[in-house]
Amino acid sequence: MAYELPPLSYGFDALEPHIDAKTMEIHHDKHHQAYINNANGALEKHPELAKKSVEDLLRGISSVPEDVRNVLRNNAGGHSNHSIFWTVMGPGGVAAPSGRIGDAINSTFGSYDAFKEQLTKAAVGQFGSGWGWLIADSSGKLSIKGYPNQDSPYMDGMTPILGVDVWEHAYYLKYQNKRPDYVAAWFNTINWKAVAERYK
Ligand code: MN
Repeated sequence: MAYELPPLSYGFDALEPHIDAKTMEIHHDKHHQAYINNANGALEKHPELAKKSVEDLLRGISSVPEDVRNVLRNNAGGHSNHSIFWTVMGPGGVAAPSGRIGDAINSTFGSYDAFKEQLTKAAVGQFGSGWGWLIADSSGKLSIKGYPNQDSPYMDGMTPILGVDVWEHAYYLKYQNKRPDYVAAWFNTINWKAVAERYK
């Protein structure tokens, strides 16, 4: 089964003013679609890989045949990362997490503000293109890590919970070189209900 672009569950303008509609449209319809097209091109050469979920493929990236390994690292990685990204954002969210994910964030990082500071540091400090991720290990223990390019936490044996895309295509139209301003604004778009579901 080839990968398909998941539809956004909200409009392109739903995250305004934090993320502008034009950026959302190009990011979802063009950039994410391009990762899917490139990944599907590689999967055509190895139909056995297409039977796996994208998560399983990424978990086993080191055993993927060498002729398509890098293409899939970048593009199946990009497909997975963006598929998560769209769902952990949304309009009209709450400002801070509650329930189990809220407790886990407080006990791991000390407070919501300390968590925010660490994720901001990982995202803003990522050299070049990449992502800042809140990840969980198999026991549910949380941590924060920056990943280059479209590398996925699944490749590390971790589960991605909440991520911020810091490729320039995610913010350049509105924020230009001001990545810290984009990341600060992005926190307002987090759909904590969806993040809590992922953490479960
Ligand atoms: Mn992106």
